[in-house]
Amino acid sequence: MKRVLILGATGSIGTQALDVVARSEGELRVVGLSAGRSAEALVALARAHGVERIALTDEDAAARAAEAWTDGEVLPGADGLVRLIAESGADLVLNAIVGSAGLGPTVVALSEGMDLALANKESLVVGGELVTTLAEATGSRLIPIDSEHTAMHHLLTGEPAGTLERLVVTASGGPFRGRTRAELEGVTVAEALKHPTWAMGGKITIDSATLMNKGLEVIEAHHLFGTPYDRIDVVVHPQSIVHALVQLCDGSTLAHLGHPDMRVAIGYALHHPDRTTLPLEPLDLVKLAQLTFEAPDEQAFPCLRLAREAAKEGGTAPAVLNAANEVAVHSFLNGQLTFNGIPEVIEHTLEELGGTPVHSFETLYAADADARDRAAERIGALAA
Ligand code: NAD
Ligand code: MG
Repeated sequence: MKRVLILGATGSIGTQALDVVARSEGELRVVGLSAGRSAEALVALARAHGVERIALTDEDAAARAAEAWTDGEVLPGADGLVRLIAESGADLVLNAIVGSAGLGPTVVALSEGMDLALANKESLVVGGELVTTLAEATGSRLIPIDSEHTAMHHLLTGEPAGTLERLVVTASGGPFRGRTRAELEGVTVAEALKHPTWAMGGKITIDSATLMNKGLEVIEAHHLFGTPYDRIDVVVHPQSIVHALVQLCDGSTLAHLGHPDMRVAIGYALHHPDRTTLPLEPLDLVKLAQLTFEAPDEQAFPCLRLAREAAKEGGTAPAVLNAANEVAVHSFLNGQLTFNGIPEVIEHTLEELGGTPVHSFETLYAADADARDRAAERIGALAA
């Protein structure tokens, strides 16, 4: 039996993770749950899954939960989340928090030497080498939960060092594939939230529409597999059946295929190195008939280029990129910024702050905060 702690339990990945746990026939047991501010939803999940300890980062939400739920303990605030992780005795921490708010909890889990199933890609985008070095130092295993990276992890397991030539990350292309930048000018929030193949949380769905999600995933792959950026390609594949490919030194290319269902990636990480049975239809290649591939359009979707530039610059630049993106996406969702305004704000923030060397996690938290301020200023100026 594996003891699992689920952070960001009320979200898209969190609830699907609880579904995977419920199907595990006792192989997995949940020892704690966290959320940001969704008190009612988190209490309902704690009741349904017999969990005795929960954490809510928002103090008001934590107070509401403590009033409504007396069968267990509610840990409030950022400190409460740290305690939930450090005192959990979990064998595996699943981090499904959205945004750079997930970095702190990642650092706590790795510092404690706990294995980490990481859906929160922003932890790797912002934390980079500091995160992977910490995992190595404490002996924590870092298992990705992202369909492409799960696929690559799977394909590379057992491959001797030095055999990997290139990684290919596939992208659905999002709801606006094929449009020009001018045609993207007036797109609405509702249109941007209509992802063609995956059902996900709001932030990552917008990231998929701008292609920033692929940019973040290139950085995530670089840190997970130690692959140089010029050996990581992005290919648009609208059917979302091939999740990733790895090209090896002997000319073979391995691909990972499956229906777009995140429970495959979640099940892989939670049960690793074992496998579990999931209720998915087998792939019917004849029914699918064709799988197509095309190059991403970086003119219409500049976020992919911006992410590659920030990655190359290194230092704090990826943290700046990520924070500016989070603020811009939030403003787009609130109707304060246009869709094309998202890359505009990120590019401006990167130009203003650039990248500086990283000495510690503190440098990264400071860069994140600065970038948030600059991005908000720019959004204000564009609206004026
Ligand atoms: P979501 O918005 O559905 O859920 C986010 C969760 O994080 C919620 O439980 C929320 O309460 C919690 N949260 C939000 N802000 C917080 C804060 N400041 N502090 C603590 N907790 C906070 O998001 P999601 O779609 O499940 O995505 C979660 C992560 O997984 C993201 O990093 C995303 O990029 C990654 N991911 C998601 C998918 C997917 O299919 N949804 C696929 C691949 C990767
Ligand atoms: Mg992905």
